[in-house]
Amino acid sequence: MPSSKFTICARKRPCHGEKDVISTTENTISVTVDKVKVDLKKYKETKTFEFDKVYSERDDTCLIYDNHIQQQIENNNNLICYTFGETGSGKTHTLLGPGSIIESAIFDLVNNYDTVMISSYEIYRDQLYDMLNRRQKLTMLENYNDIHMPKLHWKKCNYKNMQNIFETIKQNRKVGTSSENDQSSRSHCLVHIKANNKNYIFVDLAGSEKGKKSVYENKQQHYEMASINSDIFNLKECIRKKNTSRIPFRSCKLTIALRDVFYNNYSAVMIVTISPEKSNISESVNILNCASNMKHIKRKPKISKSELPNIISNPGKVIIKKKIKNIEKFADQTYPLSPVKSKVAEAYAFKMPILKNSKYEPSVHVDILQRLIKKESNICNNYINNGDSNMFGEKMAANITDQVNVIRKIDQTFGKKFFALS
Ligand code: ADP
Ligand code: MG
Repeated sequence: MPSSKFTICARKRPCHGEKDVISTTENTISVTVDKVKVDLKKYKETKTFEFDKVYSERDDTCLIYDNHIQQQIENNNNLICYTFGETGSGKTHTLLGPGSIIESAIFDLVNNYDTVMISSYEIYRDQLYDMLNRRQKLTMLENYNDIHMPKLHWKKCNYKNMQNIFETIKQNRKVGTSSENDQSSRSHCLVHIKANNKNYIFVDLAGSEKGKKSVYENKQQHYEMASINSDIFNLKECIRKKNTSRIPFRSCKLTIALRDVFYNNYSAVMIVTISPEKSNISESVNILNCASNMKHIKRKPKISKSELPNIISNPGKVIIKKKIKNIEKFADQTYPLSPVKSKVAEAYAFKMPILKNSKYEPSVHVDILQRLIKKESNICNNYINNGDSNMFGEKMAANITDQVNVIRKIDQTFGKKFFALS
């Protein structure tokens, strides 16, 4: 089986008139920010971000295709390619513009295989629209481990019609751009190509700006931005947890649609597009920060168990100590105790089961959780420092069961939001 790879590269687009604040090298991209000291002296600060590859404004899309996509098609690997960046930074240009990645991929696939099927849809505020069937609304169904979109149009691609199909997608993606309320920049567009039993998925993500005031002009735009930010967060979570047993792909339509990608062997390429103008500086830094975080969540190769003793003298202790650090940090961050609540919580926490017919307000449960976590850290500390192994396993199991009960209760009361804490 080919090994799946996650490549992140950045692409700077040409500067539109204003001052250019971005410089690039082979692997780094630097942003120069003007700052003012306390004594009002001006100075410049440069932030540098490293990626697997960086493309400057002089590099064309074909080069990106040749370096990252063509090889995967030749090697017959499943592939997912995302473009990620703020509106106007060149995401659609990279995937659907002149000499674009999707156009080249369709051509190569049609050249290599007899049967090439293609579909495309847009996701706007958790609604799906078919790009190859007059933007008809689509439904998405889940059947065991499969995601189905029963009404989605799949078109067979050949030399004759490939240009037509590509133009249809391109035009549909453009529709919103010229309209007053540019929906295309606030929706994700997916193009899915199937050939030789492999899947090639291209995702033009919605513009992910956060700080621009204009996007909060009205309520609808506020909801749009909230929806995009949560989609990007969910996508990041799924990428982070790829190949683990619990991938939270059901959080939004985008990640449900990409379910297969997280569970199977896909090579992934993320192209981070950057606007170089001074007026876009804060967004550019946000995007680069976010993308370089994603770079760092790339999984390190696993150390085999037999190697472990050579690397650390007492693996058990190291792992438990790390756990204590994490749970203490978590306990400190949870809801701070108020005197009244903590009294209730104390009485409550040590008389398990605590949650039957609870008539206390939800925040009490958060307090209880905090106490249970501290208690867990005490049990661990006792074990490590005093060698108190008496009933260690049972104590921990009981504590964790109680924590799960409390978290369930919190989830019921607060909704999804707290689930992330668990
Ligand atoms: P996004 O999809 O990120 O909102 P677009 O792809 O629509 O942004 O790009 C905005 C504008 O900038 C378009 O007119 C596009 O042609 C131009 N552009 C973007 N990237 C490049 C590039 N690398 N070279 C030349 N023009 C570009
Ligand atoms: Mg676009």
